[in-house]
Amino acid sequence: MVRPLADKVALVTGSTSGIGLGLATGLAKAGAHIVLNGFGDMSKIERARSTFETELGIRALYSAADMRDPDAIMQMMAYTEKTLGSIDILINNAGIQYVAPVESFPIEKWNAILAINLTSAFHTIRASLPGMRRNGFGRIINIASAHGLVASPYKSAYIAAKHGIVGLTKTIGLETAQDENITCNAICPGYVRTPLVENQIKEQAQAHKMSEEDVIHDVILAAQPNKRFVGIEELTDLVLYLCSDSAKSFNGAALPIDGGWTAR
Ligand code: NAD
Repeated sequence: MVRPLADKVALVTGSTSGIGLGLATGLAKAGAHIVLNGFGDMSKIERARSTFETELGIRALYSAADMRDPDAIMQMMAYTEKTLGSIDILINNAGIQYVAPVESFPIEKWNAILAINLTSAFHTIRASLPGMRRNGFGRIINIASAHGLVASPYKSAYIAAKHGIVGLTKTIGLETAQDENITCNAICPGYVRTPLVENQIKEQAQAHKMSEEDVIHDVILAAQPNKRFVGIEELTDLVLYLCSDSAKSFNGAALPIDGGWTAR
């Protein structure tokens, strides 16, 4: 088995489900030690963690740190550094969604979305960059969204956070530009069929009294010209490429992987 990331340490926020779990699996298969983070059924999380160790021969940790809580984030970073060494690959992926018109958008949902989808990345980046600089290698990959580049109605907090993380990515790209092999990029996926999107499909089907198939085609994928979901394996391959030496001149970029959505 080719293990291009052998002995690298990768932390993926929000990796107990969906895209994050897929990316963590891809990084583990490439040989990286993994820190899983997020919420969910503890027995499933422990099964994923221990399977990484037994089947892939890497070390895998789990942190339940809540990405709304800066102290918990700093504890997760310190625990990682103490147990596995400094972080080489940081994937800021944790995210939630809430859909409502701005006048009725709950303030606590706005605060949670900004904290999880944007501010947590500020905390993880500032804590991991010194170790990357000591090692002369670092890859920071922020999972933004096509909604980091264009807007849709009723998603004010999500779109503000995703545009914000694209701006943060550009800034860190400039701040690391003089470091030989440290980069920071954002990936901007179109729709990926994960629990986050399954919830939207169900809500929209109820709200519009439509079948789930019609919601997928006419609502969810309305703006995505290729009319199909992006595969998690496509995102994994892009992340693995960004982690390679061949990608060391990608820096501060926001890379759409959206079936043509943002080409309009
Ligand atoms: P998901 O709901 O399947 O996974 C979200 C993950 O974040 C889970 O592991 C969850 O436990 C974790 N999480 C939620 N709140 C947290 C908190 N307070 N602290 C720590 N972890 C927390 O969603 P997904 O679709 O896999 O989304 C992952 C990322 O990809 C998000 O940033 C999302 O915005 C982005 N994204 C998703 C899509 C899509 O269509 N699914 C498209 C573009 C971008």
